[in-house]
Amino acid sequence: MVKAEGVHKSYGTAHILKGIDLEVAPGEVFCLIGPSGSGKSTFLRCINHLEKVNAGRLYVDGELVGYRQKGDKLYELKDSEVALKRRDIGMVFQRFNLFPHMTAVENVMEAPVQVKGESKAVARERALKLLDRVGLGDKSGNYPSQLSGGQQQRVAIARALAMEPKLMLFDEPTSALDPELVGDVLDVMRDLAESGMTMVVVTHEMGFAREVGDSLVFMDGGVVVESGHPREVLTNPQHERTKAFLSKVL
Ligand code: ATP
Ligand code: MG
Repeated sequence: MVKAEGVHKSYGTAHILKGIDLEVAPGEVFCLIGPSGSGKSTFLRCINHLEKVNAGRLYVDGELVGYRQKGDKLYELKDSEVALKRRDIGMVFQRFNLFPHMTAVENVMEAPVQVKGESKAVARERALKLLDRVGLGDKSGNYPSQLSGGQQQRVAIARALAMEPKLMLFDEPTSALDPELVGDVLDVMRDLAESGMTMVVVTHEMGFAREVGDSLVFMDGGVVVESGHPREVLTNPQHERTKAFLSKVL
């Protein structure tokens, strides 16, 4: 579902991603860990067309991200083409970024109505089902300010799912939450994983990675240092840098 071949990304002279190779299979829960500044968010932003890679190839669902290839030449995609492709990818951030002036159900309906031109009735019906699925069936009329952080994050997940994405990206979805609210969000992510969704998850929740993850990658300094099955990497890390990182977070 995602394939990176020698992906490089720089901001000006700052070389952030230095040749990322990895592959995420359909239906897989792919966890990404690593120290602050190692390039995890940058990599997710590349997958989600928010950044263009400078070298290497990045594919989502078999299609090159950001470019069209003709012969051996690459042409940048137009904004309208990028917008179409982004519809298929859901992203959940550390900060929930809900629209404050809309209720939970209105937040979830927004993109299908505005972006896909779906009728409000159809979008509302699906939004209510999704809110039910994330355990917020009784909160559909609440504004974000009337929801806890964990509830807002679950609305954000429902909102991403409303576009019926093929791939969900999570960037530290629980790290801004009070500890007692983390479990509910992880439960929703676990359900989603069990439903077969392909998920790339940047997280510090090693318990989640161990129990739900199919693969785990440890990134440092813009490269993949170590990868494997989460239980393997977490209990028996091979590289010094992985050991040093895990000794701090476990
Ligand atoms: P964290 O765990 O703190 O979220 P991360 O692994 O997600 O870290 P990134 O956010 O990908 O790290 O950032 C990697 C590096 O790229 C950092 O040094 C950061 O300062 C730099 N960076 C990120 N975005 C930009 C930008 N838009 N312009 C310039 N530098 C950037
Ligand atoms: Mg980050």
